[in-house]
Amino acid sequence: MPLRETEAIVLRTYRLGEADKIASLFTRQLGRLRAVARGALRPKSRYGGTLEPLSYVRLWIFERENRDLLHLNSVELLESFFDMQKDYRVQLAAQYLAEVGERLLPEREMNERVFRLLLAVLRALKHSNEVNRPLLYFDYWMVRLGGFLPDFDACADCGRALGEEGGYYASGYEGLFCRDSKPPGAAKIAAATLAMVQTACRLPLEKWFQETPPAGTREARLFLEEIIENHTEKKLISRKMMEEEV
Ligand SMILES: [Zn+2]
Repeated sequence: MPLRETEAIVLRTYRLGEADKIASLFTRQLGRLRAVARGALRPKSRYGGTLEPLSYVRLWIFERENRDLLHLNSVELLESFFDMQKDYRVQLAAQYLAEVGERLLPEREMNERVFRLLLAVLRALKHSNEVNRPLLYFDYWMVRLGGFLPDFDACADCGRALGEEGGYYASGYEGLFCRDSKPPGAAKIAAATLAMVQTACRLPLEKWFQETPPAGTREARLFLEEIIENHTEKKLISRKMMEEEV
């Protein structure tokens, strides 16, 4: 592969040996991938602060023949989302976005809609004091674009319309359930909350942010996180951390 230029969002970085880093990246043109940043841990590294978590960057990348890993040639910062993470809730939210991105996005598969979604959600986190609304929007669209958004109107077990009572959901179970079919330990989500999600998340995020935050964003977010965690079949570390803080 010759030198390729692409935009990317840095999901996270890992230490590699004494001086190098591996960057987990969601690139706009090449999808999710990992690349080595040689010398990134050295004090005067040419990467400077570009590889901070969730940085929006432009980068040049190449692949050596017969090697698995990609290599970063250079990185240019387009937009930083680092300072906003001084707020601990925002930091946890950012970690959640990175973790869900790593779990749900297939490797080397370009996805322009998810790229734009992630960028819009990061900007919403940066420019508002809200955490729940950006996260809810992210969750809804990750689930919907991933093709595993449950039916909001009917019980996944018996098919009965959920109607005004709303639905129940539980860890390890796909979908929403009626009162009679609900699994043990199920949590309830109100019909009004389900309706709010469907109306609000269909708006462009910038447009939704011109409105006052509706009630139920946290409740809806917790429900969609459960759907995502069920789908990844593995507990999300950041979700556990957000539980009490966000
Ligand atoms: Zn039912």
